[in-house]
Amino acid sequence: MLGLMQDQGLLISSLIEFADRNHGDAPIVSRRVEGDIHRYTYRDAAGRARRVANALDADAIEQGERVATLAWNGYRHFELYFGVSGSGRVLHTLNPRLAPDQVVWIANHAEDRVLCFDMSFLPLVKAVWQRCTTVRKWVALCEADALPADSGIDGLVSYEAWIGAASDRYTWPALDERTAASLCYTSGTTGNPKGALYSHRSTVLHAFAAALPDAMSLSARDSVLPVVPMFHVNAWGTPYAAAMTGAKLVFPGGALDGKSVYELIESEGVTLAAGVPTVWLGLLNHMAQAGARFSTLQRTVIGGSACPPAMIHTFKEQYGVAVLHAWGMTEMSPLGTVCNLKGKQLALPPDEQMKTLVKQGRAIYGVDMKIVDPEGRELPWDGQASGDLLVKGPWIISSYFKGEGGDPLRDGWFPTGDVATIDADGFLQITDRSKDVIKSGGEWISSIDIENIAMAHPAVAMAACIAVPHPKWDERPLLVVMPKPGTHPDRADILRFYEGRVAKWQVPDDVVFVDAIPLGATGKMQKMKLREQFRDHVLPAAG
Ligand code: ADP
Repeated sequence: MLGLMQDQGLLISSLIEFADRNHGDAPIVSRRVEGDIHRYTYRDAAGRARRVANALDADAIEQGERVATLAWNGYRHFELYFGVSGSGRVLHTLNPRLAPDQVVWIANHAEDRVLCFDMSFLPLVKAVWQRCTTVRKWVALCEADALPADSGIDGLVSYEAWIGAASDRYTWPALDERTAASLCYTSGTTGNPKGALYSHRSTVLHAFAAALPDAMSLSARDSVLPVVPMFHVNAWGTPYAAAMTGAKLVFPGGALDGKSVYELIESEGVTLAAGVPTVWLGLLNHMAQAGARFSTLQRTVIGGSACPPAMIHTFKEQYGVAVLHAWGMTEMSPLGTVCNLKGKQLALPPDEQMKTLVKQGRAIYGVDMKIVDPEGRELPWDGQASGDLLVKGPWIISSYFKGEGGDPLRDGWFPTGDVATIDADGFLQITDRSKDVIKSGGEWISSIDIENIAMAHPAVAMAACIAVPHPKWDERPLLVVMPKPGTHPDRADILRFYEGRVAKWQVPDDVVFVDAIPLGATGKMQKMKLREQFRDHVLPAAG
């Protein structure tokens, strides 16, 4: 017997319509690439999203065709999120930090039809447009009078002229909720990038989950600043979850330095900010130098790579801001776990609580996870046993776009490539990415553990721990350190810092100092590059 409830699909258009009707006057504030601050409301955004849908109709862009963006976080990008997907096209958020050749490869693989870009990416677009063979229309996200006459790009139009000619009345189609809604490529550290193709259903379910109290706890009383880019797994779903809850949205544009982010947090009363650890390093440096305080910020969601415990401490002890450590992947829309304490842990002393808060957190309803040994046997949730992490759930991929790479699943589970422990309360702790773990004489050393200790050293701005070949132990850890400006730590000083913090055999064999650690397109340390750079490094003990 079937239930007798209305069979209404979970559609992205319903989010913006809901926000229009119920939170029409809630503000959306954007720092534009032009540098000024733009303000409007969900009602304005909804009307303009409908214009986008009509403009795509007028250009005869078919259902399912890809409309790409090369854009920072801002109100026009937000409108495209809803106008493109809501009308049945697929929003493809290209990462503008990729090299031009990679952008061309991905745009051609995705067969993008329309490409909308921020004016700050005009040089990139000029370099690639002739090689993006499927794109029929180029749209500059600007006013008509800001369009350069001599761009050289055939048929370039301004976004404002494009949607300005379209009506703001539109009836959103009643799509099948499994219809493709957006496309995001993994960073492709090994081989070519692969596309994760999200559906309306997966996106709306993920937004529900993201807004839950034990996830980001979003509400109409929040002012949310996604520093994580809208081209990085849909800014972790914050634009959708904000529309669902009516939270005020604050978009930082391309100004992601500590000072700009701090000013926006203060001027817009931001209560929740989300981003990768490297962005918060910049913010915390600025805070320390300027002696600044937060007056409204309550919590920050930090994920994408391991958040060093020292950062969680600083936010909490110095600034009274709770860090919600989160773990996820592009293939997971991206949220898998978020770290929030359970009721029974609230009475624990702060030190004990901190042992849990540094972990990546508990699964959100909708995400099923398990850890297995090399033979695929499930391991216990005891906080000790460490194994390959597998996940499944309605916002986790079943296959990559165009079937690239074959069937990614193992008995219905998606292997994350991460190694983790899970404790009896369900708190996940990522030990490492399997390709980053250091295999020393049959024992594994967690590069994350070694980095986290270095990050607590007062003179260390950033640290990466990588494996280098070793004649006796196969691999041994090498620590690559970027010192804080004005400090000059030496090798012995850093190595002494490990005494009593890890077992002797886990202490790095050597420390090298660099001016900068290479970061990838989503702000993560590129350990593969470092491994190449230091492949022939001779460790003192082995030399
Ligand atoms: P995203 O684009 O969301 O960062 P990617 O697919 O590029 O996702 O990378 C996902 C990987 O990033 C995970 O498999 C994991 O190795 C790493 N990661 C993400 N969040 C964390 C975290 N909080 N702690 C440790 N590693 C993390």
